Amino acid sequence: LQEKLQRAFKNLRGQGTITDENIGEALREIRLALLESDVNLNVVKSLIERVRERAIGTQVATALSPTEQVIKIVHDELIEVLGRDNARFKFSSQPPTVILMAGLQGSGKTTTSGKLASWLKKGGHRPMLVSVDVYRPAAREQLAIVAKSVGAQIYTGKVSDEEAGTPLVERLAREAKREATNFGNDVLIVDTAGRLGIDEPLMDEMRKLKALLNPSEILFVADAMTGQDAVNSADAFHRELGLTGVVLTKMDGDARGGAALSIRNVTGAPVKFLGTGEKPDAFEAFHPDRIVSRIMGMGDIATLLERAEEKLDRGKAEEFAKKALTGDGFSLEDFRDQMRQIKKLGSMQSILKMLPSVGPFQGLQQAAEHVDEGQFARVEAMINSMTKKERLNHEIISGSRRRRIAAGSGTSVQEVNQLLKQYAQMRKMFKGLGSGGGKMQRRLMAQMGNMG
Ligand code: GDP
Ligand code: MG
Repeated sequence: LQEKLQRAFKNLRGQGTITDENIGEALREIRLALLESDVNLNVVKSLIERVRERAIGTQVATALSPTEQVIKIVHDELIEVLGRDNARFKFSSQPPTVILMAGLQGSGKTTTSGKLASWLKKGGHRPMLVSVDVYRPAAREQLAIVAKSVGAQIYTGKVSDEEAGTPLVERLAREAKREATNFGNDVLIVDTAGRLGIDEPLMDEMRKLKALLNPSEILFVADAMTGQDAVNSADAFHRELGLTGVVLTKMDGDARGGAALSIRNVTGAPVKFLGTGEKPDAFEAFHPDRIVSRIMGMGDIATLLERAEEKLDRGKAEEFAKKALTGDGFSLEDFRDQMRQIKKLGSMQSILKMLPSVGPFQGLQQAAEHVDEGQFARVEAMINSMTKKERLNHEIISGSRRRRIAAGSGTSVQEVNQLLKQYAQMRKMFKGLGSGGGKMQRRLMAQMGNMG
């Protein structure tokens, strides 16, 4: 999107205001990009109109380029559509608070029930789980396994051959609520059956459960990968049941999250949580700004670039690139210089977090959680403890020199060994890379993120 906008705005430079004429092309690009991210057509249309209204006549401030201004407007409008703070969870004043899980088969209801139980436990609650999916024998067994893995209580009840269908569902639900009350569980999560498509028996059963349990939350679980289908089924469920929130699952896949925007726009129900994997802890409260960045595919890259522009010594970076890519490669001394440069941009964690969460950057933001900032200080200390001769030629660093460096930097010989090994690998990698300055910088950052 960024790139497309950049092109669209090339001829806007030097003009004072954004006009109907010069914004047209940019809006067409934005429209395409949003549609590609599964945002509903009607949502896109009204959004583009609002962006146009806000953008036209805006003075092109000198601090921001027109591109950045329009990006900012689009960004703000998207967040507006998603709602600013909506991850709040409703608890009943009369426990147990009942959470009814709704959604199609395979959307992730059972998995999400377990994740939610785990999340609630961390918040000091005592959730109880119950499955009323009596149509597939394996479904209730699956929830039992999930409950065990997160250490949550589950009500299984007795199921006999004489009883089936909705009456059985209602009995289990009623018993579970009583059980939760008796055992002092303050939350009851009800995992329900799903169908491949929406049908009347399913809706009827859901309506009965709602009447019976008086849930505080009716969460619609939607597979983000299904895009527009998820929007349509959310709409149908909402009309029948009145959803209080949405959980978008499988956000760890290729889905870009446009469904979140559309569901919110169509139903008015806020997205409250995201599922980001199969494990119980792959679950997070929903932050509109993150998904907007994901939809726009750019992270906070604009901020990052701005900062780099300000702080980095271009001459030095180029010199480093030239050395790294040709001839003898870069020395540990060059490496230390470069590391100091990058440090000027902020902590490694903050840098990684600003990268987009799509394409080649996928996973880097998660890596950011585990970056050990102290590791950078240790690496620098080790290089500082080397003699200049050693820094310029790592091959002379023998065993006794390694012991001296470790002692001098307050690290261990193992750490020195590891640094030298990684340095040698990096040096080789760069020499093999050949060309492309920007690419090289990014790889260096990624590589440094992996150190230690
Ligand atoms: P249900 O039929 O609605 O109960 O769906 P399940 O909870 O059984 O999930 C269906 C499949 O989707 C299972 O294989 C889950 O492991 C998988 N799944 C659920 N949530 C996520 C998620 O957030 N990410 C990924 N990658 N897989 C998920
Ligand atoms: Mg299930």
